[in-house]
Amino acid sequence: YLQSMPKAETIKLREKHIGAACQLFFRSSPLKIVRGIAQFMYDETGERYLDCINNVAHVGHCHPHVVEAGRNQMSLISTNNRYLHDEMVILAERLVKTMPEPLSVCFFVNSGSEANDLALRLARIHTKNKDVITLDHAYHGHLTSMIDVSPYKFNLPGGPEKPEWVHVAPVPDVYRGKYTYPKDAKTEEELGHLYADEVGVLCQKAEDNHGGVCAFIAESLQSCGGQVIPPHGYLKKTYEYVRQAGGVCIADEVQVGFGRVGTHMWAFETQDVIPDIVTMGKPMGNGHPVAAVITTPEIAKSFTDTGVEYFNTYGGNPVSCAIANAVLDVIEEERLMDRAMRVGSHLLSRCEGLKHRHRLVGDVRGRGLFVGVELVTDREARTPATAEAKHIINRMREEKILISRDGPDSNVLKFKPPMVFSTQDADRVVDTLDRVLAELDGTKAPASRLTLEVRVTPIGEDSTNTESIRSNVQQAVKAN
Ligand code: PMP
Repeated sequence: YLQSMPKAETIKLREKHIGAACQLFFRSSPLKIVRGIAQFMYDETGERYLDCINNVAHVGHCHPHVVEAGRNQMSLISTNNRYLHDEMVILAERLVKTMPEPLSVCFFVNSGSEANDLALRLARIHTKNKDVITLDHAYHGHLTSMIDVSPYKFNLPGGPEKPEWVHVAPVPDVYRGKYTYPKDAKTEEELGHLYADEVGVLCQKAEDNHGGVCAFIAESLQSCGGQVIPPHGYLKKTYEYVRQAGGVCIADEVQVGFGRVGTHMWAFETQDVIPDIVTMGKPMGNGHPVAAVITTPEIAKSFTDTGVEYFNTYGGNPVSCAIANAVLDVIEEERLMDRAMRVGSHLLSRCEGLKHRHRLVGDVRGRGLFVGVELVTDREARTPATAEAKHIINRMREEKILISRDGPDSNVLKFKPPMVFSTQDADRVVDTLDRVLAELDGTKAPASRLTLEVRVTPIGEDSTNTESIRSNVQQAVKAN
């Protein structure tokens, strides 16, 4: 009853009417997902998949509190922000409370792309400069304005040309980037400064060519570029260069915000910086399209002073705001940041364990529930294991676990699951990955550490206790 037509028909209609450029996972045998609950998704046959990819379903697929908030508000009113509404101002106040000063003015929009587009517009108006510095392999959205600053797209063979006002800085990737340990620097801070100096050079170039910098835009931890954790001190020094050159600093928190890193609500906080503009989206609505830009009163005033009104038909509508407020409720009430820290560090350390057993695992990195496992065919040369990564994704799908891969060489296994992910889920993923890696490198995987729920009758109450334990264990093993 959860589907309107058989899967084959859905595929046929999709092929006929949906642009083939739209990505479809597992294209030769796509999944038809009809239901989601917490960290699980179900296909039309009722098969259950563990979702390790969907950072949008932040507080878990179809969280009842979020669903109820949307349903209630939808039945009351959904209008635009030309009217007063409490949900909007409450949301603005709650978000601002999570930000350092002076970030205190919100604009609500509908997607991460829109948020970044508005951020760039604000930066242009405020600085009166045009040049933008972006990171290599970065992705900031699908709008034309965002493709301009997204090497992830314009670097592709068929991609558009990079505009001359866009400058690409190297990714601060300590494993595969331009500067690495221990070749180029002794400390992490030193490495961070080497990468920041690259931005300094681009600032100088922008000043020489066009009189100044408009903005530096970067994810606080680069997800699309392959789950990259910048070295300590990188953003701090980078922001200094950009500001000296008259530019503003935009932190794209679309993927990594809302507590995913566990220690902080926003990933930029891990680098001890305060951006001028922060953009957020994806997890904000747990699947409902809602996004935001938060900036300083000074930058917001420059926008107001143009006399050009800002209107966005759906941005800040009461339904979206009610949903975003409900997401914040759940993050707080279910202490999901603590969970991200606890489960994330368990996942990370278990992935580290894989590195010791499988030569294919070149690097393991992460923060909270943002983890990357980089696969290489040669550890010395760090040769990307692209085909192997593809094979693993497909094998994991057969095991009913959904993970993805990313990075310029598509060789980084990417984990960014809903924040309700459990240590048992992490164990299941790593045990399965262990097995799949063993198939590839011919090693023997250790027996899985299955977590079994076994009901045991206390000794004394049942004379066949040993037998009953054995039968319960057997049943639990079968069920798993
Ligand atoms: N910024 C980042 C870092 C993203 O990952 C994405 C989406 N993948 C966007 C911006 C664009 O967001 P949206 O797809 O909601 O427009």
